[in-house]
Amino acid sequence: VQYVFDFTEGSKDQRDLLGGKGANLAEMTSLGLPVPPGFTISTEACRTYLATGREPDGLAAEVDWHLAGLESGMGKRLGDATDPLLVSVRSGARFSMPGMMDTVLNVGLTDTSVEGLAAVAGDERFAWDSYRRLIQMFGKTVLGVDGEHFDKALEARKKDTGAESDVDLGADDLRELVAEFKEIVRRESDTDFPQDPREQLDRAVRAVFESWNTERARIYRRQERIPDDLGTAVNVVAMVFGNLGPDSGTGVAFTRDPATGEQGVYGDYLPNAQGEDVVAGIRNTLSLADLERLDKASYDQLLGIMETLEKHYRDLCDIEFTIERGKLWMLQTRVGKRTAAAAFRIAGQLVDEGLIDADEALTRVTGAQLAQLMFPQFDPAADRTAIARGMAASPGAAVGRVAFDSATAVEWAQQGDDVILVRRETNPDDLRGMVASRGVLTSRGGKTSHAAVVARGMGRTCVVGVEALRVDPRAREFTTPDGARVAEGDVISIDGGTGEVFLGSVPVVPSAVVDALYGGAAAPSASSADEDGARQEVVAAVLRLMRHADDRRRLEVRANADTGEDARRARDLGAAGIGLCRTEHMFLGARRKIVEHVILARTPEQRDAGLDELRPLQRADFTEILEAMDGHPVTIRLLDPPLHEFLPDITELSVRVAVADATGSPDAEAAALLAQVQRLHEQNPMLGMRGVRLGLVVPGLFQLQVRAIAEAAASLLARGLDPRPQIMVPLVAAVQELEAIRDMAEATVAEVAAETGTDLRFPVGTMIELPRACMTAHEIAEAAEFFSFGTNDLTQTTWGFSRDDVEATFFPAYLERGIFGVSPFESLDADGVGRLVSIAAWEGKETRPDLELGVCGEHGGDPDSIHFFESIKLDYVSCSPFRVPVARLEAGRAAL
Ligand code: PEP
Ligand code: MG
Repeated sequence: VQYVFDFTEGSKDQRDLLGGKGANLAEMTSLGLPVPPGFTISTEACRTYLATGREPDGLAAEVDWHLAGLESGMGKRLGDATDPLLVSVRSGARFSMPGMMDTVLNVGLTDTSVEGLAAVAGDERFAWDSYRRLIQMFGKTVLGVDGEHFDKALEARKKDTGAESDVDLGADDLRELVAEFKEIVRRESDTDFPQDPREQLDRAVRAVFESWNTERARIYRRQERIPDDLGTAVNVVAMVFGNLGPDSGTGVAFTRDPATGEQGVYGDYLPNAQGEDVVAGIRNTLSLADLERLDKASYDQLLGIMETLEKHYRDLCDIEFTIERGKLWMLQTRVGKRTAAAAFRIAGQLVDEGLIDADEALTRVTGAQLAQLMFPQFDPAADRTAIARGMAASPGAAVGRVAFDSATAVEWAQQGDDVILVRRETNPDDLRGMVASRGVLTSRGGKTSHAAVVARGMGRTCVVGVEALRVDPRAREFTTPDGARVAEGDVISIDGGTGEVFLGSVPVVPSAVVDALYGGAAAPSASSADEDGARQEVVAAVLRLMRHADDRRRLEVRANADTGEDARRARDLGAAGIGLCRTEHMFLGARRKIVEHVILARTPEQRDAGLDELRPLQRADFTEILEAMDGHPVTIRLLDPPLHEFLPDITELSVRVAVADATGSPDAEAAALLAQVQRLHEQNPMLGMRGVRLGLVVPGLFQLQVRAIAEAAASLLARGLDPRPQIMVPLVAAVQELEAIRDMAEATVAEVAAETGTDLRFPVGTMIELPRACMTAHEIAEAAEFFSFGTNDLTQTTWGFSRDDVEATFFPAYLERGIFGVSPFESLDADGVGRLVSIAAWEGKETRPDLELGVCGEHGGDPDSIHFFESIKLDYVSCSPFRVPVARLEAGRAAL
């Protein structure tokens, strides 16, 4: 194997081997741009070093050879006493990890070569400044000396000499500083700063290898989901100097503004400076316009190079450059990171400029970026101080008065107040409060806790698991980590995109993108004309890319919606139907009591009375939603939640009975009820009597729903509309369950058809959300006209962990240990759960070639999962209305 590659050997496509920096230095070299000569030690060498603890065999010889080549090319020897070659040693991994790993500049300077450098450069100050930088960087990164020691010594020296900044220090000051730095090294590391240039080089290379595994690099990789085993490449580059006086300097530049996407170059320049000075913010930087005044020739050349790079990479590039006595050198380039708004805007511009086509533009933006643009945001210019931070569960910026229970939230909302519902955790009883609130804040729970899932579904801003807040619903207050009390009625602001919580009201700016997606015009704002123009350009780019995604995608996008209002919103946002209408939300509030009567009825008459009461209510529910989605499929799921949600609370009831007994006036009715509730009580309700099991055990319940659907459809047909309900049976594990419900449903629909004299026929199908259903899909498809994968339950039952509990308990440890990189409730576990889905899809189609296949779990709106569903050729994904545009975009990207 070859471990070392000259810059003249590689190309930008070799990032795996050469790292991003090395690959791009090679690319610029082959483009004929002014890159200082050098070579790259491969990531493979690093991996071997990290695995074995020593350099791979042959590496030293290859470095010798390439160093000799560099020396002869430059006509200087590394660390030579009279005219030294100096090199920089820079890390550069496959994925950029800004500031995470180490760099050592000016390698090759020693007590003797510093004099040589001074003589050749004709500048003593420069030579000693370079030497003190080497000792400082080498001390920190190679010898592990705390950087503070050097910084303090530098500060003290500036103070002693009255220097305002480090450029004001003279050669003598710097010479003394070097002595001081060497003393620090000796004291802090028990070794002398090495005077052998080659030893400096080897140790710097090793330190860069090792910097792959520093704590901060690991944390960064975890956050960015960069694999831990890639290793970094090391670039050894001939030094060019930006600290050779006022006609030298160093800078960073972007070919477009990465924050706004504004066309035109953008950058910072610092005269008489080296390396990290620009980003470190040591002195105030100048703009590129200033550089034009200072050094027109270099400026013009730089602009020309930037244009070359943009054309070549066909994208926004960022670069690092140095000017050494009027000669421009390129030290780095890469395709630059950018904000969500800039990503869309630049993609649109590049299409207009003919650099990329519409397909490629689609690859340049992501659903996650679109989601960011769809939420209102806190005004970035506003003053604000965060009091705590939790998990960002559902994005958006919400401001309102704190309410600690649903009733208060509803009451205040009715009075026209904005409310933030604050709870330790939420449960289904909080639903009304959540609907009435602008945002939801909980001190417990994870990203798939009840609060998080429901809030995402409703598009409410939500922050969960803010453990630093002590919520005391009784005292009607919560306390912040520094002891401040926030009482009910006080105003707070929460940012569902970052998880931050602020005291008081932070100003919010609405999303122009959402307006436009709904077909409205971007609202004019108080901002400047420039800002409005920029915003409109972003909006136009989003719409244009959405159109292209729609042209491209094969997957249909439907929405999960339970009300007419949600259905209309989903349709406006481009949903082609409803993939999941969860009917349990229709049985809350007052209706819950009726369901309780049905379940606990002691006689068929009692039961039928309850069912008769529910039927017109359900008919109205279905009429509304079918009408809102007229002409499009509406998949209505028969009742799913566990039994206990419809029973009186067992603890409360027990207390009531016990109190009655103890006070000598026993309540016979309560006691009988308690006995019944105890009989039905379950230890694991989610694995108990829910879904189809409830439908089979409680006579008439599912039939009532089917009848209501059929009656709603018949009445809409009579009005000349085109209702398209699909009847879906939840939690089926065996074909026999489905057959029983299907037979009932078909008979019921036929009855209503006969009664109303209409021609009614609706597809009957099933959720596939249990492993057994996947493994028997062949049989189940005999009785199902469609499958809809319920990946929430399927994930829960495949892994065997509860979707309601685990994200706050052991998930953090699992994520930490890399057992999974992201919660499988958030992004589909393709290897396990996904495998079950593909088996079921495949077998279902074998039985019934026209079987319709969709997904309605949370994963239906998740970008990575959508790419998986495209790969196994499902027919549609269904997600919450607000995710519909994101799903459309990702489905388009997945189809490319
Ligand atoms: C599912 O299980 O994936 C699903 C969509 O149903 P629910 O979330 O209502 O259980
Ligand atoms: Mg389910």
